[in-house]
Amino acid sequence: MAEHGAIFGAMLQEFDEAARLLKLEPGIWKILTHPKRQIVVSCPIQMDNGEIEVFTGYRVQYNITLGPAKGGIRYHPDVSLDEVTALAAWMTWKCAVAHIPFGGGKGGIICDPTRMSKRELEALTRRYIAEIIDAIGPEKDVPAPDVNTNEQVMAWIMDTYSMHVGHTETAVVTGKPIELGGSLGRREATGRGVMIVTREAAKHLGKELAGSTIAIQGFGNVGSVSADLLAKAGATIVAITDYKGGVYSKAGLDVQKMLEYVAKNKTIDKFPGGEALSNEDLFGLDVDILIPAALENQITVANAKDIRAKIIVEAANGPVTPEANNILHDRGVFVVPDILANSGGVTVSYFEWVQDRYGYFWEEVDVNDRLEKKMHEAFHDVLQTSIKYKCDMRTAAYIVAIARVGTVTKMRGMYA
Ligand code: GLU
Repeated sequence: MAEHGAIFGAMLQEFDEAARLLKLEPGIWKILTHPKRQIVVSCPIQMDNGEIEVFTGYRVQYNITLGPAKGGIRYHPDVSLDEVTALAAWMTWKCAVAHIPFGGGKGGIICDPTRMSKRELEALTRRYIAEIIDAIGPEKDVPAPDVNTNEQVMAWIMDTYSMHVGHTETAVVTGKPIELGGSLGRREATGRGVMIVTREAAKHLGKELAGSTIAIQGFGNVGSVSADLLAKAGATIVAITDYKGGVYSKAGLDVQKMLEYVAKNKTIDKFPGGEALSNEDLFGLDVDILIPAALENQITVANAKDIRAKIIVEAANGPVTPEANNILHDRGVFVVPDILANSGGVTVSYFEWVQDRYGYFWEEVDVNDRLEKKMHEAFHDVLQTSIKYKCDMRTAAYIVAIARVGTVTKMRGMYA
């Protein structure tokens, strides 16, 4: 892209480092650093007070070489075309690392869902989908949940698309409620994948989850499930924060009680089972493993030097800036990068899409077994690549992804 912002710039820095080590052909390099398609739409909605508001929405299909574009839709006041494009690129590399037949896409709407009613959110979702309807579909582009979107939003997307095409089409979106074609295990999949790679990373460094201490930033869909499954696997979760604040307990937090608390209070701030802890203080805690599971740009030059954890697992997309990544690398911190660490979600999205197209649904144990196998394979592909190229896990993950997408790009050849 001729012009781009800071988040896409961060993605490019990571990409370029891996492409150099891989000695990627200049032509393929150019193709893979440009988004295929960027769509910008205006969505007018009548608000509950009778006034009309116009919301800006984006859908970016970064690369569709391996299959339909795949990636979530986020609702957040800070959404921008730069952010959505970077996230769509990360989806491309993530699907390639996970070895599933999808390209990468992402969508977003600039809005503050915490200040909108359910009716307003439904109207906005339906209008946004109607605006991008020609670009999506089971063979074209398959959205999913992301920050501030959930099963209900996916149900509205499925219904809006189905109304337009005149028949029920479940495979147009993943992360749906089970009753309308969702997959068992999808809601927990990203957190389950995080648990699996955290376990593998600890094992690689000669440790076990049992007896390890963990701090987690974020208690949304990803952070809460990761905390729950890691605690069940024997780890001690000593700290969790969310957008409002958080808690610390040396002896370990009761994650089950926190899940009940958050269901009632919408935040874990002031949870009575530990001492109050701020988001900033979380990063400097003396723990074995740190899991950022919120938004991008959380670990920066300002706090990277305070980090005492030996392992960082990027459950969020882009939580560590490239400059902070260099500091962590020099200090010997083992970072499991986002495009590997949080790929459990899109992997089970792939299983959901397969089940919808088949019209035959698997038991939860089958979904979890297949996810375990996929995550294990992806982790070890990346680890072996990092040993082969003598690089960190992030660069290795990009090498795996770029090699896979690059090979197919070359085999397919140029059109016209
Ligand atoms: N939004 C999730 C991600 O960033 C899931 C995407 C999907 O399932 O398509 O990986």
